[in-house]
Amino acid sequence: MTLSVFDIFKIGIGPSSSHTMGPMWAGQRFVNELKQKGVFESTASIRVGLYGSLAHTGVGHATDKATLLGLAGFRPDTVDPDEADKAYDYIRNSSSMKLGGTHSIPFDYESQMIFHFGEELPEHPNGMRIFASDANGIVIYYKSYLSIGGGFIVCADEFNATKDGLQPADSGQPELPYPFKSGADLLEMCERDGITIAELMMANEKVRTNGDEEAVNQGIDQIWDVMRNCIDRGLKMQGTLPVSGMKRRASDMHRTLMANPESMLTDHFAIMDWVTLFAMAVNEENACGGRVVTAPTNGAAGVIPAVLAYYTRFIKGSDQQGIRNFLLTAAAIGALYKMNASISGAEAGCQAEVGSACSMASGALAAVMGGNVHQVENAAEIGMEHNLGMTCDPIAGLVQVPCIERNGMAAIKAITACRLAMRGDGNHEVSLDSVIETMYQTGLDLQSKYRETSRGGLAVFAKKQSVA
Ligand code: SF4
Repeated sequence: MTLSVFDIFKIGIGPSSSHTMGPMWAGQRFVNELKQKGVFESTASIRVGLYGSLAHTGVGHATDKATLLGLAGFRPDTVDPDEADKAYDYIRNSSSMKLGGTHSIPFDYESQMIFHFGEELPEHPNGMRIFASDANGIVIYYKSYLSIGGGFIVCADEFNATKDGLQPADSGQPELPYPFKSGADLLEMCERDGITIAELMMANEKVRTNGDEEAVNQGIDQIWDVMRNCIDRGLKMQGTLPVSGMKRRASDMHRTLMANPESMLTDHFAIMDWVTLFAMAVNEENACGGRVVTAPTNGAAGVIPAVLAYYTRFIKGSDQQGIRNFLLTAAAIGALYKMNASISGAEAGCQAEVGSACSMASGALAAVMGGNVHQVENAAEIGMEHNLGMTCDPIAGLVQVPCIERNGMAAIKAITACRLAMRGDGNHEVSLDSVIETMYQTGLDLQSKYRETSRGGLAVFAKKQSVA
């Protein structure tokens, strides 16, 4: 299935697309399925089991809370964080919940929210099972869900049927003019029809909206609005990050940069400070459960807004069409990672999250800087090539260290990758498709302790140091 720009960029809340947004969608979906099966009213209790990475880093990512909120009728794209906090407190304090927002049932967190540490579902490291029982304690419905990255949720059957968990091409999707599956497809179709990757994506999106280009543009503009607002909030907010109590740094950095505007004239690298700051502002917001856009995940949500902010603030001639082209191009590249490899840190390490975001941003920036399709593909390839092997080892399972700074570093790397590609003519040795396959195989070869379990790498070393 060829993915849409709105599959890749989804508005939601932090701190994690796979561990927060996905489980909230799973809770939502489970309630809908209870209704479809006609057992919603007879459900008297719910039990949730979290497996693999969802168990290991679930509390730090608020997986338990997100699942319960989904079961209580909240959606990631519309949830008000304050209302969500109140609803969660109600569940924990009253030992009861309103299933689907209406149907009151008892819920004892300690015995009905179960973390299966050391156990994985066979299909995917991010697994969960939800059970519904009637008043006699008989299980009347249950389902296994997999959170496959970027907020995508599939059930085990769907995953097994299509390998990647995405819908098959013949599943009712309208016939697209450009059904691409690889970077080679993108190059071939763009060259054949003399169009850019953004134009190719728009042609596909128009089919999905019955030709309503304005609706597509409004949707894309809304994505940028949420990204931009997220940067602005992150630059203002002070205080500490949840659970770790670490100080938020973006607002102080912002004040320092604003107090020294002349640094832009005397310091050749001042722009790098701004780009890093934009990314950190987004990821601090994400860590605090704020409203973000998956790009392609929440953990990597700062890279694309930061590079797009670089484009709007520092590149002469930037305009609204450029912003749309940037996001369309980035989405096409992100779709390649999602369709052919992984954007899940639990499945393939941080190279799949921040690495993919870097690659998307590199290619998109090259596109709006006037690069031809070969330079765009080259930029995207460079953006991933130098993230290969990057592990996911967040300290205490929180999307904070190394994640927040890492997004800043990847944003800088994306700009460098774009500039390198733009110095060439698009000819290069390693294709984007090859580097995507390499990333995926490298991810599968990573020991599981380096894939979002907080059982290896920086997470363990930093713990030892703090004990010593
Ligand atoms: S280390 Fe990377 S993949 Fe892991 S949680 Fe942080 S941003 Fe996501």
